[in-house]
Amino acid sequence: MPKTRLVAFVLAFCLLAAGPVIASGAGAAKPSPAEVQAWLAEGNARFAAGKPENPHTDLERLGLSGKESQADYARATVLSCSDSRVPVERLFDVGVMDVFVIRVAGNVANTDEIGSIEYGLLHVNTPLLVVLGHSQCGAVTAVTQAALGHGHPLERNIPPLVAPIGPAVAKVMAENPGADEQVLVDKAITANVWQVMHDLFTASPAVREAVKSGKAAVAGALYDVGTGKVEWLDAARPAQILAAAEADPARAMNAMYEAPAEEMIAEKGEAKVEAVPLPAQEATPVVEPAPAKPAPSADLGQAMARLHDSLDAVAGVLAKGEAAKLEELSARFEGLQKDVEAKANATLASLAEREKMLEKRLSDATSGSSSAGWLAVILVLAAVVLLLGLTLPRIRKLEAKVKELSQQ
Ligand SMILES: [Zn+2]
Repeated sequence: MPKTRLVAFVLAFCLLAAGPVIASGAGAAKPSPAEVQAWLAEGNARFAAGKPENPHTDLERLGLSGKESQADYARATVLSCSDSRVPVERLFDVGVMDVFVIRVAGNVANTDEIGSIEYGLLHVNTPLLVVLGHSQCGAVTAVTQAALGHGHPLERNIPPLVAPIGPAVAKVMAENPGADEQVLVDKAITANVWQVMHDLFTASPAVREAVKSGKAAVAGALYDVGTGKVEWLDAARPAQILAAAEADPARAMNAMYEAPAEEMIAEKGEAKVEAVPLPAQEATPVVEPAPAKPAPSADLGQAMARLHDSLDAVAGVLAKGEAAKLEELSARFEGLQKDVEAKANATLASLAEREKMLEKRLSDATSGSSSAGWLAVILVLAAVVLLLGLTLPRIRKLEAKVKELSQQ
């Protein structure tokens, strides 16, 4: 008996001693989202106090990076602004292979950023996503000024980049009539963090699933460029935004990438939809500022994307011959079609308004006004007409096919 007890004791001791080694090695279980947030908050406290430890920045860490998988080490995905005053690793006092960072002006969530977030949460296996806005954000300021009617010309690729900030600015302006610009910008910076979560949850079934299953959590935070401090925003809000996205019939449904509808139709031996060339780009880099309400064109883009998702789903069902699903899809499809048409009309109306504004500006000018504005309007109008010309016949064609097959 004493011998058995001794063996048991030795075994227990070995297991206890091995435990920490196993837990700290490669492939160890990741900390919980709350533990990751606490770890980031501690690092930020050191940074803001001027006492950073600069961990994981030595040669040992580099050697480890060269031979290990980041998926076993990185703990957080951070979506932040490109602003030079927001150095993510420094402000959280973390180092190499610690955080998976996406930086883009205005910390917006367009397709590229959402794809990067999906990669960070589902392939790098980070338990926490931080959407980090910051004080004095130039992108939010530019959108707010444009909405207030005193924006300035922006290079051609900036308006579509910052368009997702539009709804946050519009909401803040509606809730704070008459507030001065600085107040609006400050509020819009926070509203934009929530808008980003809304855009992310609406567009990414994979992220919704990761959060619902507890694999990952999402937190909003604001960084003060003057003090270096990170303020963590309302922890209950992300779950509310997720619930709203879950209830939105227009949310994206297919988590995995699928071949576009055209390819599926072509496989069935039917006519392939021809790609329509877009109008040639202007040589001049500078375009007019975004119209006062940038929302319609962004809305139209999102509605078109949803419609295309739906088209893909219909084509998939057709390919598999699943007649039962056709009716349900057909109904969803009609709603989306109306949505796109309504938003296209809104976009055309907003373009017409802008055309009028430019017309007035041209007639007010006393000498040699440039025709670049006109050219921009004509090109944008042409693009919208081409987009509609391309999409509406496809809608009608597939709709007819859905009906025809439902009747069989
Ligand atoms: Zn910024």
